[in-house]
Amino acid sequence: MTFVDDTADLLALRPGDPGYDEELAGFQTGLPQRPAVVFPVSSADDVIAAVRYAAAEGLPVGVQATGHGLPDASEGGVLITTRRMDRVTVDPEARTARVQAGVRWGQVVAASEPFGLAPLNGSAPGVGAVSYTLGGGLGILAREFGYTADHVRSLDVVRADGRLRHVTLESDPDLYWALLGAGHNFGVVTELEIDLVPVRTIYGGSLAFDGQEVDPATVLRAYEEWTRTVPDELTSALAVIPYPDVPALPPHLRGRYVVSVRVAHTGAGGEELVAPLRRIGPVLGDSLREMPYAEAHTIYNDPDVPNAYHGDSAVLSELDPAAAGELLKLTGPGAPTRCVVQVKHLGGALAEPAPNSVPYRDGRFVLQLLAAGDRETARTLLDPAFALLADATLGRSLNFAAGAGDRPEGLYDDGTRKRLAGLKAQYDPANLFRRNYAISAR
Ligand SMILES: Cc1cc2nc3c(=O)[nH]c(=O)nc-3n(C[C@H](O)[C@H](O)[C@H](O)COP(=O)(O)OP(=O)(O)OC[C@H]3O[C@@H](n4cnc5c(N)ncnc54)[C@H](O)[C@@H]3O)c2cc1C
Repeated sequence: MTFVDDTADLLALRPGDPGYDEELAGFQTGLPQRPAVVFPVSSADDVIAAVRYAAAEGLPVGVQATGHGLPDASEGGVLITTRRMDRVTVDPEARTARVQAGVRWGQVVAASEPFGLAPLNGSAPGVGAVSYTLGGGLGILAREFGYTADHVRSLDVVRADGRLRHVTLESDPDLYWALLGAGHNFGVVTELEIDLVPVRTIYGGSLAFDGQEVDPATVLRAYEEWTRTVPDELTSALAVIPYPDVPALPPHLRGRYVVSVRVAHTGAGGEELVAPLRRIGPVLGDSLREMPYAEAHTIYNDPDVPNAYHGDSAVLSELDPAAAGELLKLTGPGAPTRCVVQVKHLGGALAEPAPNSVPYRDGRFVLQLLAAGDRETARTLLDPAFALLADATLGRSLNFAAGAGDRPEGLYDDGTRKRLAGLKAQYDPANLFRRNYAISAR
């Protein structure tokens, strides 16, 4: 264990040091990171020192807040761990929150709720607010409010030159545009200032069907038709999950192949809106109800224990029910490894233009596949599955794209990628921030 020369307080952990392995622990256990140096930072000054050290040594910089992301496994380089930067400050008058780099969404929801406000968080409270937003951020209320990246007032970022910059749309329009959509490549964001929305309660929950009783393809077809009828105030997703037979799960899910539709609606009339879904077939579980926004994480009930999986995504212009039915056959209970399929409905405010680099705003759905186990087994399942929907695929959705480090294809449309590459050459010519996915040609 050593301290970096020019910053007496910044701890550096190297392989073999006490605390090194513990510092690397995160949600994703399948993509091991073995950095040459880990800097557990507590302040923006620490981040500056860590980035300056990496630049001087010519080492690539990675960042870990919670480990929910899907960067490639890596050896060497610098890893900055931000979980100690966990302050949230809400300004109820301005309807904003300032969130530091290590803050999880659950903290922002809890801090906003007393003021009748809510952040534009995603399905799982344990996910880091900053990285989620840098990748776009497809939230529980996304169709009503758009991407979380569309609601950022400012970003404090330590750039490759080792300087901290307070970035707003007015101060640095190009860097602001690049950070929101590709921020992991342009620096280490130490703090965000984000909009909060006046939402106290929602109508939401999930409606589950037994996939052995009701054909998942039938549910998917009905879901696709239903999405054509719903207002922007309703955001939803469909998930197809082969649950393992483990005691940790509720009895009605254990060992079952379950199709569920997850719904969040602000405003009146939720019951009537979901009525067509209830007619699809016999229901296995129904948690739809009026709820305080603070309970919205129960809609998706994402796992909160670390696990190993591989995943990827496709933003789709259309969801062809026949092709999707084929995909469900491939990924169902007979698949070589357990695979979760999720389809999220886009459109609404997500289709509105915004001054950031989040691409594919004309997508109608995003398809997410998560396969258990190692990368090779997963890819033998995921590649043919995605190929079935290739005709309607616009690209990949960054927040759900694994191993983007060596497969950057499709993360951006050509125009966005070219503009990002130009800005990358300007702001990070040595490609210090290259741990996640390639923007520059180097
Ligand atoms: C269970 C689960 C549910 C999810 N739900 C949603 C959802 O509803 N909507 C959605 O859009 N996404 C969702 N995601 C995806 C999630 O938003 C991304 O994986 C996100 O990158 C996770 O950020 P993190 O800080 O938690 O993870 P980490 O693994 O700690 O970080 C991910 C990457 O972001 C970069 N990074 C982290 N912090 C910084 C920083 N301060 N500055 C610059 N770069 C940084 C790092 O390079 C790192 O590799 C979900 C993921 C999981 C596992």
